[in-house]
Amino acid sequence: MTLLLLAGTGEAQRLATALAAQKIPAIASLAGVTRAPKGMAIPTRSGGFGGANGFRGYIAQEAITAVLDATHPFAAQITNRTAEICADLDLPYCQILRPEWCPEDGDKWSFIDDEDQASAHIAPGSTVFLATGRQTLHRFANLEKCRLICRQIDPPDEPFPFDGGEFLIGRPPFTVEDEHVLFKELAIDWLVVKNAGGAASRTKLTAAGQLGIPVLMINRPKQPDAPCVNTIEDALSWVMSL
Ligand code: NAP
Repeated sequence: MTLLLLAGTGEAQRLATALAAQKIPAIASLAGVTRAPKGMAIPTRSGGFGGANGFRGYIAQEAITAVLDATHPFAAQITNRTAEICADLDLPYCQILRPEWCPEDGDKWSFIDDEDQASAHIAPGSTVFLATGRQTLHRFANLEKCRLICRQIDPPDEPFPFDGGEFLIGRPPFTVEDEHVLFKELAIDWLVVKNAGGAASRTKLTAAGQLGIPVLMINRPKQPDAPCVNTIEDALSWVMSL
């Protein structure tokens, strides 16, 4: 057996460590977006497969016998495509997906489906913290006359694409206290977040709640109709059942 672990999340990191400990033959795959990703405990490849045909070729070349998809809940393209191809090839596939975040008492959250809907909620002149990553930054182009602060892991290789915007470099994890101090210091009016779920990155939502900062929550894209678990333990049980 050779398991392909589609990685890019903290869950993938922990799964790689568990798979190595259990001596389960596995290869991790990263999108290659982060310049210096944390090392993984199993052999790791990096970069796209070259579309659907490239992925099919890779599966055959490496004699992959099952796929565990631990990509981000917003990595809809790779997830939907992989589920579809695995179904076609009759290859076992399972997605690990963290439960979505829900507001707590006193939280001021609004929900949108796409980034370009943010302008219907955020008034010109606002200071906006974008915890949404640089890949989707262009979708906020209609947020005019705002100070946009986009946090990302790597130093930018291009200038901010809009007037009044800036990058803030930071590698997670961030504690509630870190986020509280940062949002206060920057005088944030709005926090924009993808509903990624998970305890580690909920800290920014707790800090926003403490400071009374409204949150614009981007709903998740549609997930595939395929086997799915929510925890690392259940993902490992799925692997052991193969
Ligand atoms: P995507 O839109 O689903 O995938 C785009 C392409 O990236 C895929 O078609 C594939 O290229 C390649 N790819 C993605 N994940 C891969 C992996 N684990 N191994 C090999 N190739 C991979 O996903 P995305 O561009 O990575 O991310 C979309 C959004 O998800 C981002 O804006 C961000 O919000 C969020 N995100 C994703 C990850 C992640 O784990 N991928 C991590 C953090 C955040 P080919 O077609 O060439 O195979």
